[in-house]
Amino acid sequence: MKIHEYQGKEILREFGVTTPRGSPCFSVEEAVAAAQQLGGSVWVVKAQIHAGGRGKGGGVKVAKSLGEVRSFAQQILGMQLVTHQTGPQGQKVRRLLVEEGAQIAREFYVGMVVDRAAQRVALLASSEGGMEIEEVAKHSPEKIRTVRIDPAAGLTAAQAADTARAIGIPDAANAAAVQVLQGLYCAFVEKDAMLAEINPLILTADNRVVALDAKFNFDSNALFRHPEIVAMRDLDEEDPAEIEASRFDLSYISLDGDIGCLVNGAGLAMATMDIIKLYGGSPANFLDVGGGASKEKVTEAFKLMLKNPHLKAILVNIFGGIMKCDVIAEGVVAAAREVSLNVPLVVRLEGTNVELGKKILAESGLPIISGNDMADAAQKVVSAAAKG
Ligand code: ADP
Ligand code: MG
Repeated sequence: MKIHEYQGKEILREFGVTTPRGSPCFSVEEAVAAAQQLGGSVWVVKAQIHAGGRGKGGGVKVAKSLGEVRSFAQQILGMQLVTHQTGPQGQKVRRLLVEEGAQIAREFYVGMVVDRAAQRVALLASSEGGMEIEEVAKHSPEKIRTVRIDPAAGLTAAQAADTARAIGIPDAANAAAVQVLQGLYCAFVEKDAMLAEINPLILTADNRVVALDAKFNFDSNALFRHPEIVAMRDLDEEDPAEIEASRFDLSYISLDGDIGCLVNGAGLAMATMDIIKLYGGSPANFLDVGGGASKEKVTEAFKLMLKNPHLKAILVNIFGGIMKCDVIAEGVVAAAREVSLNVPLVVRLEGTNVELGKKILAESGLPIISGNDMADAAQKVVSAAAKG
């Protein structure tokens, strides 16, 4: 689960990381009032969306007067902000962060991710702040310093100090940088983050170390123990189909292709997407209906897939283990009738009572194409989608 920059900065402050003073705003008037209250003579008006690259896209503006704060807030609020992370359709800006302008002497990058292979949290740090870290990794990987953190010891002061030195933070600011890195690590662990990024982390002329941006992504499997994080969720920033799916306890991810997949079990769902690709097709979604897929769940799953205007065909690939194939077949038939299916449907069943299941499909009177095995079903659905 992602959150906004201003929410990320609230968390960072809780863990002793310095950020500019600022406040979230939902209207132009609020933005002007916030700037007035902050005082000073330079403010930054920042679009709050769950995507990076806002600066380049015109979503971050430096204002030198309250009049400028007003006009930038007018410009940015409600705009369809396009960045390299939003896709070409962009994302509508509904919230702003108005904060004090910082005096930037130098910009650095620091981030943390879970390194699954090493089974540790990895700290990434670089002298190349403000740029996309993916670009740095591609063109000058030697400029990224990686520390894999021992979970028992945590990020030690010595490791943090070395890292700060390695990326070029001067000694006069070393202690401040150590506080930031250790604060970021504690926030990462205590809040069950999967990713935490400060880009840029800046050095000011008077050797303060300040987080100018904040990005967090939290492990959704740990949200049950973080109601304070769940409260930060902004549904406007999430895919409506995925929100709908989570209401019915379906694991659903929208993809770019045109073949809907309805599968039980995440592993089988992955394999199904792979085999569709193998035969030249492209999946429209990942969808795992889970082990105990009821008729209601299958119906909701069909409705979700059919909302996608690009959908050309559906592949149902079910292994009847816990569930029996005849029960699933009845669910598929009932769901297909209820939603008045208008694209070809290929069904592959395997497992307990498979013959009975196939009979129910064949006798349903619905134009269901039966797949004998995964390869057969995948080929049939790819060719059905190509004709559609
Ligand atoms: P994004 O990564 O989405 O482009 P950032 O928050 O990193 O957004 O802002 C982009 C750039 O704007 C930063 O790299 C920094 O140079 C500048 N910036 C952001 N916040 C401030 C601030 N409070 N004071 C001065 N400059 C800022
Ligand atoms: Mg940034």
